[in-house]
Amino acid sequence: MPSWRRSASRPPSGNWTPRASWPRPCKQSHRFQRGIEARLRLARFPWIKTLEQFDFDFQPNLDRRQVRELAGMSFVERAHNVVILGPPGVGKTHLAVALGVKAVEAGYSAQFLTLETLITRLVRARHENRLDRALQQLTYPKLLIIDEIGYLPLSREEASLFFRLVVRRYERASLIVTSNKSFLDWGEVFNDPVLATAILDRLLHHARTVNIKGDTYRLKEKRKPGLLGRRKPESEDE
Ligand code: ADP
Ligand code: MG
Repeated sequence: MPSWRRSASRPPSGNWTPRASWPRPCKQSHRFQRGIEARLRLARFPWIKTLEQFDFDFQPNLDRRQVRELAGMSFVERAHNVVILGPPGVGKTHLAVALGVKAVEAGYSAQFLTLETLITRLVRARHENRLDRALQQLTYPKLLIIDEIGYLPLSREEASLFFRLVVRRYERASLIVTSNKSFLDWGEVFNDPVLATAILDRLLHHARTVNIKGDTYRLKEKRKPGLLGRRKPESEDE
């Protein structure tokens, strides 16, 4: 059993104030907590969202048992992947971040990148003759989250950089990728159907696919009173 798990059973020490996003703060020692905070910083999540904050009732077609099972982190332990598919606003990034937070809480290193940031970083590294080191660095996190595959089409050269990353991590460390495009459209996204097939082959060999088919949550927020769809009282009508 890794040491962080043993220390997790100790009572907290000092005047540590629990953060709302962590479900079991009382059981965590000060040192354990600092480890989580350090890994959270390194992960560079765009924001912290948890599974507890995810409204499963809003997405009745989403398999919550599957998500709960993923939250158990055995996929990270086995270096398997997760692919989250769905249209914009349905919570793909939320779920990816939430699983990343679970991984960090469970003691794993994680890193979050959009595909755009990733490709920019790899293209620059190649220009500066340090592509191999850049790829190596991206194999260290036990969980790498690559968000937003499909929004920007890649050139074949850029796609081949992504392929090299997938090959490096294959069966060594987990990827979570999110996409608004179905696998059939990945040929277009990667500008090369053969390369897209090779990417999907590695990515999906040991993977769970989470499909979110429902409505955008962003619209739900807008529908709140006063923002959108509010019926005006008679006197306000023009
Ligand atoms: P996507 O990545 O699929 O475009 P996001 O994950 O960015 O969508 O979700 C958009 C916003 O709506 C975020 O603030 C997210 O936390 C929130 N959200 C989406 N789905 C849910 C949900 N089912 N329950 C709670 N918040 C949600
Ligand atoms: Mg998103």
